[in-house]
Amino acid sequence: PYLGPSAEQVLEKRKRFLGPSLFYYYQKPLNIVEGKMQYLFDESGRRYLDAFAGIVTVSCGHCHPDIVNAITEQNNLLQHATTIYLHHAIADFAEALASKMPGNLKVVYFVNSGTEANELAMLMARLYSGNLGMIALRNAYHGGSSNTIGLTALNTWKYPIPQGEIHHVVNPDPYRGIFGSNAALYAQDVQDHIDFGSSGKVAGFIAETIQGVGGSVELAPGYLKHVYDIVRKAGGVCIADEVQTGFGRTGNHYWGFQTQGVIPDIVTMAKGIGNGLPLGAVVTTPEIANVMAQKIQFNTFGGNPVCSVGGLAVLRVIDKEKRQAHCANVGSHLIGRLRALQERHDIIGDVRGRGLMVGVELVTDRKEKTPAKAETAILFEKLRELGVLVGKGGLHGNVFRIKPPMCFTKDDADFLVDALDYAMSKL
Ligand code: PMP
Repeated sequence: PYLGPSAEQVLEKRKRFLGPSLFYYYQKPLNIVEGKMQYLFDESGRRYLDAFAGIVTVSCGHCHPDIVNAITEQNNLLQHATTIYLHHAIADFAEALASKMPGNLKVVYFVNSGTEANELAMLMARLYSGNLGMIALRNAYHGGSSNTIGLTALNTWKYPIPQGEIHHVVNPDPYRGIFGSNAALYAQDVQDHIDFGSSGKVAGFIAETIQGVGGSVELAPGYLKHVYDIVRKAGGVCIADEVQTGFGRTGNHYWGFQTQGVIPDIVTMAKGIGNGLPLGAVVTTPEIANVMAQKIQFNTFGGNPVCSVGGLAVLRVIDKEKRQAHCANVGSHLIGRLRALQERHDIIGDVRGRGLMVGVELVTDRKEKTPAKAETAILFEKLRELGVLVGKGGLHGNVFRIKPPMCFTKDDADFLVDALDYAMSKL
């Protein structure tokens, strides 16, 4: 067993020296000291099945050996020199990432987080279009900086500061949304915002292709196709936030936007792109990139050698281990088993998602869809006791988010569903 500080000691120090807004999961917070593929270990050596991947970040698996080896070699050779000098890794990584993109999405910018990626995307949209207004979805999460907080539309994350011209349109949520799965009606709300709430022109539209923090919410089928047309006609560009959905996680597609049959003008990425390294990216077209060339766009750490070799190793692992097909396979097994569980437990209102991007929404009344907030909290603690870590999401905290490292197996899925079944039967 590990002989480091206990959970109590760490918590005490965190409370004294870190900001009070920092939150933690579980009444008795977990103290994690080690990770190996889909498993995490606490200071007593107890193993947990990780079905949340450090908030959908550890794409290939904790401490995946290929990625650790790549970054260790680079660490020993050169950690940092900035992009004012040449280095092969940033160029190789950009080439590999661009090769994964459809259409004319061929110009890559590296940053250090999802927030930074969305900041840059919003700047690009405004400069390219010459307009200011941004459209985002209610229930969206796009970051916590003063600009991206404006795009984020969950009150739990928003501080009351000026947020500029941002329109939050009706969320095309097939389960809770007012228009059910009718994409055309939701898209009409975008048109209405443009017609009545703007000059008739907008800078752009941004959406997660499956909402993450908001509770694994898929967009009504066909929604992005309608909306991209409307936004482009109003002079805006279309941004896909792939921070959680990219890199094969959705199974049938490498990128979440492909599930909606669209090609965005700008794509933002983070989290899974680095398997835990602080790394983000924005990919766009040469036309949009040209507007950025009016000034210098600089980022000290963006695309540094260590993160770039790590990111390149992630892309290679996903291909070599056929993780996209694996996500489709294990994901359909997991979703199938969760739907079977739904037939036996009334508390499960909705099972949704694609591949290993899954949501289970709990309600006390299936007709009224009353959020089962307290029950979710109890089940969440029980799952942890049983050795399974999932995420919690949605405005009411009543959605389990199941988004494990992509090496998660069918046996792991069975264990998770059996643990959930047992916990629910004890409610
Ligand atoms: N976009 C999405 C969809 C996210 O889920 C997140 C993080 N939860 C972000 C952007 C912001 O990323 P970061 O925390 O790396 O700034």
